[in-house]
Amino acid sequence: MSLFEEAKKYIPGGVNSPVRAFGSVGGEPVFISKGKGSKIYDVKGKEYIDYVCSWGPLIVGHSNERIVSRLKEVIENGTSFGAPTELEIELAKLVVEYVPSIEMVRMVNSGTEAVMSAIRLARAYTDRKKIVKFEGCYHGHSDSLLVKAGSGALTFNQPSSPGVPDEFAKLTLIADYNDIESVKKLFKENKDEIAAVIIEPVAGNMGVVLPKGNFLKELESVCKNEGTLLIFDEIITGFRLAKGGAQEYFGIDPDITTLGKIIGGGLPVGAYGGKKEIMEMISPVGPVYQAGTLSGNPLAMAAGIETLKILGEEGFYDKLREKSNKLWEGFRENCNKLGLKFAFNCIESMGSLFFKEGVVESFADAVESDTKLYATFFHKMLAKGINLAPSQFEAMFVSSSHSEEDIDKTIKIHYEVLKEMFGN
Ligand SMILES: *Cc1c(COP(=O)(O)O)cnc(C)c1O
Repeated sequence: MSLFEEAKKYIPGGVNSPVRAFGSVGGEPVFISKGKGSKIYDVKGKEYIDYVCSWGPLIVGHSNERIVSRLKEVIENGTSFGAPTELEIELAKLVVEYVPSIEMVRMVNSGTEAVMSAIRLARAYTDRKKIVKFEGCYHGHSDSLLVKAGSGALTFNQPSSPGVPDEFAKLTLIADYNDIESVKKLFKENKDEIAAVIIEPVAGNMGVVLPKGNFLKELESVCKNEGTLLIFDEIITGFRLAKGGAQEYFGIDPDITTLGKIIGGGLPVGAYGGKKEIMEMISPVGPVYQAGTLSGNPLAMAAGIETLKILGEEGFYDKLREKSNKLWEGFRENCNKLGLKFAFNCIESMGSLFFKEGVVESFADAVESDTKLYATFFHKMLAKGINLAPSQFEAMFVSSSHSEEDIDKTIKIHYEVLKEMFGN
């Protein structure tokens, strides 16, 4: 019996998060036994160059020596106290220093929890009920946000989920990414009722889709005029596009920011932060309740601190960009050489190849992609030792541990695979 067969006996679908099950690409998921730097190894010992990077967190690669040694130090002194520790101050200080709009931050255990709490806070702060999200953006699986969602929800064609009462779902209004008119229309129809607009400033959960022109700036000003909070879900883009995330990159000042993934350096952490005036509405200072037995866990804080310190080193993002651009250029050249016109979106160290000709600038464009071609591409890459996300609607991530050799090898294999699929 395969590990997957065995897992399916005890765990729904054999996995603890749906996309891992390979549902949209077919076949059985690879079980991983270890990771080091840019590489992961399956239980049979096969090596892969990894561009999933745990779906984003591992911007410095697998089992980074500094993170591992800090974790060892911390673990000797206990794993959880349910009482404040200095580590929590250290990570909070780094977050406030790095992310321009964050004056105060609260740690939680996952991105889902961060966003759920941020929405509650925005509703309390504005005393309004409705929120606006964009079709194809994913903000975790809390009830209010599992409406026309991306990521696994999109991969499995279940963008909205049974079990979310209509009464909740109808408080979540849906706009189109990169279409400011669709946002303005919702504000007109729901005057003084919208607590917050939440957005992935660069969409990463319908594949990578970049904000066009002044879209984010206009969104910022619409929110300001309407007394609505702008929530940047930077769970992917935070510490990925730049030290200060997408808000630094694009020069936007959101009211609340949600963080996850990289902030935990591979351990379970999420966070939400913003202006002091808003954040002080949270218990125990204010009336908005939010708590967590393991929140601010010492191991999780230590991994986050070491990761953020590495990101803060001179030239970190320049080197990562250079490496990423080499890979993206290589991919584009391969397509050109083969006369393929597929859309390829990238920014800094995140990118997506869409099996759709022309451009992908919206959710409607993204879902025109040929997911069967993606499945073939994915399996051919995997067989040759390149690990990509098992879904068309996800990003690939480059880490600082990817070497020149990894990049060259990946470009070469990418060419071979596309040639096998489309060459004549
Ligand atoms: C991954 C992700 C989340 C959810 O985070 P979890 O830690 O998986 O709960 C929320 N928003 C965005 C943009 C994400 O990419």
